[in-house]
Amino acid sequence: MFVSENLSVNEKGNLTINGADTTVLAEKYGTPLYVMDEDMIRKHCRTFRKSIETYYDGQGMACFASKAFSCKEIYRVMQQENMGIDVVSSGEMYTAFKAGFDMSKAVFHGNNKSSEEIDMALEMKVGRIVADNIFELETLDKKAKEKGVKISVLLRIKPGVDAHTHSFISTGQIDSKFGFALETGEAFDAVKKTLECPNLEFRGLHCHIGSSILDTQGFVAAAEIMMKFIKQIKDELGFEVSELNLGGGFGIRYVESDDPLPYDEFMNAVAKVVNSYCKENDVKRPFILIEPGRSIVGPAGITLYTVGGRKTIPDIRTYVSVDGGMCDNPRYILYQAEYDAVVANKASEPKTEKVTIAGRCCETGDMIGENMSLQHCEPGDIIAVCATGAYNYSMSSNYNRICKPAVVFVNSDSDRLVVKRETLDDIISNDI
Ligand SMILES: *Cc1c(COP(=O)(O)O)cnc(C)c1O
Repeated sequence: MFVSENLSVNEKGNLTINGADTTVLAEKYGTPLYVMDEDMIRKHCRTFRKSIETYYDGQGMACFASKAFSCKEIYRVMQQENMGIDVVSSGEMYTAFKAGFDMSKAVFHGNNKSSEEIDMALEMKVGRIVADNIFELETLDKKAKEKGVKISVLLRIKPGVDAHTHSFISTGQIDSKFGFALETGEAFDAVKKTLECPNLEFRGLHCHIGSSILDTQGFVAAAEIMMKFIKQIKDELGFEVSELNLGGGFGIRYVESDDPLPYDEFMNAVAKVVNSYCKENDVKRPFILIEPGRSIVGPAGITLYTVGGRKTIPDIRTYVSVDGGMCDNPRYILYQAEYDAVVANKASEPKTEKVTIAGRCCETGDMIGENMSLQHCEPGDIIAVCATGAYNYSMSSNYNRICKPAVVFVNSDSDRLVVKRETLDDIISNDI
């Protein structure tokens, strides 16, 4: 009935998330409101960690790609769940550090890390840096020398796999701003270069083939390509690669028709490739890292809005306006992302309408979705948009000087504020 398994209806006919009545949460904290199911986030972490135990004898680390949802409390949860994290900016690093996260379990990504960000990573003793280009390798080597440290480096590789067509596309994938291309020999040269840098410790390779991937083919193809490259490095350079980071990208259910595989099946399919390749080719199995973002937090979150005006344009459409929109969820205006929605205070009623849920910003394209099935709603009703836990809060903006919503975590016995609602004074806090 609902796209996420943590959603249900209580005896009052109200939508619940992990047992908590969403209309009560809307009343208590106000709307728009992000609500995240903490138990589900922890459950997903454990699933990925267990897969590493099962398929790689524990020789690996699951890292939460924190760009999907970043605030201090999520890093505390990740620390408690024994997860690593991915960070891509000084802002994410700083947040994690301030939350007390063990930065040796952080992996620093990005195609244009600034000099200040690299300094910060070294100061905080970030465990691994994934280098994206030759200029960065040279910068890292120089900085390591200056500071008298060795930097653990992985190289970001473009494996030439298009995650969505599963075909091996050369031009399409070479044309990416991220990483070193395999086909042109660029990646192999980068490995040689890293090995020659006296202040860098070459740990291994990284790839990330895309996002919202719903089946295993692309992951399997990428793993095969990366293992072959590891063998080439061993044969031609006599170096055993000790780590392989296979990225993230596991898809989730946004709408009824999405049918993602259980995460454990992704992990099993890829592990079969890695394990059998190692056995058959006399290659030592590298320590495996994975970087799920969306799949950990996406299904755990919902956004609650209060309905404002309705506008029916005869024979065209009905607009239902809500008190949020592209500022808290830019995924529709960015790429026409689809969502499922429920009128939270009428959740047991049938969905009798098709409406366009419009945001409140001064942009025609500001919508949560078009042609969405919904219970009949009126001003004052609460709409819940489902599976908004990933890339909503983290992509939110202050366009139109709209304050960002609060974030609340719910677990089986309580709810708590983890990010306060922005205030008007926050909005002008940097204005001179
Ligand atoms: C975005 C990203 C991820 C996470 O992707 P999801 O689709 O959220 O799982 C992992 N690794 C890298 C390098 C990324 O850029």
